[in-house]
Amino acid sequence: MRDEIEITDDLSRDLLAWYDDHAREMPWRVGPAARKSGQRPNPYHVWLSEVMLQQTTVAAVRDYFTKFISLWPRIEDLAAAQDADVMAAWAGLGYYARARNLLKCARVVTDQHAGIFPTTEEALLTLPGIGPYTAAAIAAIAFDRRAVVMDGNVERVMARLFAVETPLPRAKPELKAHAAALTPAQRAGDYAQAVMDLGATICTPRSPACGICPVMTQCAARKAGIAAELPRKEPKQPKPTRVGHIYLAFRPDGAVLVEQRPETGLLGGMLGFVTSPWAGVDDPAAPIVAALAPPLEGEWQDTGQEVRHTFTHFHLRLRVHLCHASENASPQQGYFLPRAKFRVADMPTVMRKAFDLCRIDTRPSP
Ligand code: SF4
Repeated sequence: MRDEIEITDDLSRDLLAWYDDHAREMPWRVGPAARKSGQRPNPYHVWLSEVMLQQTTVAAVRDYFTKFISLWPRIEDLAAAQDADVMAAWAGLGYYARARNLLKCARVVTDQHAGIFPTTEEALLTLPGIGPYTAAAIAAIAFDRRAVVMDGNVERVMARLFAVETPLPRAKPELKAHAAALTPAQRAGDYAQAVMDLGATICTPRSPACGICPVMTQCAARKAGIAAELPRKEPKQPKPTRVGHIYLAFRPDGAVLVEQRPETGLLGGMLGFVTSPWAGVDDPAAPIVAALAPPLEGEWQDTGQEVRHTFTHFHLRLRVHLCHASENASPQQGYFLPRAKFRVADMPTVMRKAFDLCRIDTRPSP
């Protein structure tokens, strides 16, 4: 499809020229002017931001990044942090395996690499939680290595520039080959960020602003009038639904029943309210079957409320149960956390939703 349009090195040059004037400002980024004057990005900042940005928007990451850098200014500080403090600081950002791997990686870099990140993709890939995307992003952005950084923005831009009609995910190798051919040897870090910024601000998913695009004359999809239709995608499989029960119990002294979730699996290592196992169901709207055994003996109230939350691979519905437990209640699952140590903000979003529902339910009638 690119036969009538000549894509040359000019494209990288045009993109970099556009980036020089339009680079987005981000707390972890060293802008093009500062780079040209010799300032280098802090690899710790690049790594931290890239891990946070996996599956998460720039807007959501800004405050978390600033908080982490202020709590743990150097990678050695993060490596020395308590696991629970890091998990609590991460709460609300989702995909909690990232936080566990973040800590592991900080400790490996500190203990085995003297606190200095390796500079090649190959070496970066050996670190916990660093996959091909993150390795390429760190190598390019932090160390200006000629690495091919592929994320959703880059895939979309490549699909359009080259009018690739093969649907995703099948098109990935083809899109990567195009991206590799365009990546310049010089200013590889700026170039990677330029393509990402173009995808985030101009070549957007639904309505690309081709009229102000710095590479419009070289874009095959614009020429063919199919820009907004690309990239094509294979039809999505509907997400399955899992259901279960969640138990909120409070002692008269204010202590709250909680449990530390297992290290592996969803929400691994996070503090949460006690839940039953989450079972898959055929009918996503069917009523949740009665709970078998709550985590402690007491007067449990079925609130009739459900928490609904969507994870990457499934929807979750949890029936909320509430108990005003006795002072000497002894749980079979979880433990009572003193009220002074309980902060619902340190819990994952699904748990916070349950807490909010119960607060509504337990409010005295007017
Ligand atoms: Fe995207 Fe339009 Fe630019 Fe092509 S011309 S890269 S479709 S914004």
